[in-house]
Amino acid sequence: MTQNISIAPMLAEGDVEAFLTRDLAVVWHPCTQMREHRGELPLLPIRRGRGAWLEGLDGRRYLDGISSWWTNLFGHAHPHIAQAIGAQAAELEHVIYAGFAHEPGLRLAERLVAIAPRSATHAPLSRVFYGENGSAAIEIALKMSFHAHQNRGDGQRTRFVALQNGYHGETLGALAMSDIPLYRRIYAPLLLEPVFAPSPDAYHAEPGESAEACARRAAAALAVLFERDGATISALVLEPLVQCAGGMRMHHPAYLAEARRLCDAHGVHLIADEIAVGFGRTGTLFACEQAGITPDFLCLSKGLSGGALPLSAVLTHDSIFEAFWSEDRTRAFLHSHSFAGNPVACAAANATLDLFESTGAIAANRGTAAKLATAAARFADHPAVGDLRQTGMILAFELVEDRATRREYTDHPRQRALAAYRAGLDAGAVLRPLGNVLYWMPPYCIDDEAIAVLDRATAAAIEAYVRCA
Ligand SMILES: *Cc1c(COP(=O)(O)O)cnc(C)c1O
Repeated sequence: MTQNISIAPMLAEGDVEAFLTRDLAVVWHPCTQMREHRGELPLLPIRRGRGAWLEGLDGRRYLDGISSWWTNLFGHAHPHIAQAIGAQAAELEHVIYAGFAHEPGLRLAERLVAIAPRSATHAPLSRVFYGENGSAAIEIALKMSFHAHQNRGDGQRTRFVALQNGYHGETLGALAMSDIPLYRRIYAPLLLEPVFAPSPDAYHAEPGESAEACARRAAAALAVLFERDGATISALVLEPLVQCAGGMRMHHPAYLAEARRLCDAHGVHLIADEIAVGFGRTGTLFACEQAGITPDFLCLSKGLSGGALPLSAVLTHDSIFEAFWSEDRTRAFLHSHSFAGNPVACAAANATLDLFESTGAIAANRGTAAKLATAAARFADHPAVGDLRQTGMILAFELVEDRATRREYTDHPRQRALAAYRAGLDAGAVLRPLGNVLYWMPPYCIDDEAIAVLDRATAAAIEAYVRCA
């Protein structure tokens, strides 16, 4: 590209120390007990990314086993995406998206509606509203759902239903829909109170019960809830197929088909949060495809830009859009974010969609997912692995003290997770356990050499988790 771009050089050990001291003096890192950075949790300065690998300021390489919080699809610093970003930034870096339009935003919207999940029985997703991140997409979908009902004169639909163990983000509205006590509990007095419906999570199947039967049992509970309260509910919000932050818990698609049917029967909108599972993670481009459903709102982010820039999109269908069409300004959706529809982020997303087309990633992932399954299989009988599960490009290992009862370790759970994380890093891979769940969610470009590293790092992480006291 151009001259004068400052690229961090590789640093000597002492200089890395100095960097860390400066960083820890001014930066407050996300989702972190900062005190742990003074001891057991290393802070890793990264100078560049290449493919599935991150390279530290000290020159060490780490396989990005979690795709940098599930955002990266085709590898870091992908030349096609980088080129698209550079070219767009040099032409139009941003313009207000209220009252203005641009080619990357239009092109992306046209492409998203063309690839969105569709079904014979429901109106296609035909409208795209942009936000800046996943949480914003959830806020947008919740507000749009509520407001659409209001505009239709259905003023009593003021509540939402979310699933137990679900996760939808950290802003107050999105956090309210989340059922992860670690993130939610302290803020509970500030939050909307959704009704939490039982999760279809197959991990909670009764002995002898199939994943599908387990999903249908959860759907039956949802039916009871809708029978009672359906007329006051605006929308059901869920993560199709995999509850990611909730420990990569997986469920049978039958739940989604049933949820769709129940939402229709009760006039409730279905919000599919595919922020983490969208764009091929579950084996299909969108998880909803596996249940043959079209949601009323589809929330996308993370992989939308290939993991390169913050961007989100909420897709909905014509009848929602039409509920806002009016001569009355207050009936409009007066929601905005300053960088909504940012053209550089849209260019990154368009480049990402190019890569889906040119690499045949969905088909290629089937082969990669099978290789990951083969590599993971050797841990299936490990005494500390209570469950090994996979949906497409997501694999999870439930680490337990007692395999038979799946009892988790109760002593030093945090230290164990940290020990596993460190052991993974020492073996060359970023594995960031969610509590007692170790998981793989690598970039799609992961090759055999990288899978071998993932495998070694996982063995080391499990050992460290068990040994730690
Ligand atoms: C990450 C995530 C979000 C929140 O997205 P942010 O961009 O971090 O705000 C919402 N829902 C799901 C399912 C996620 O995994």
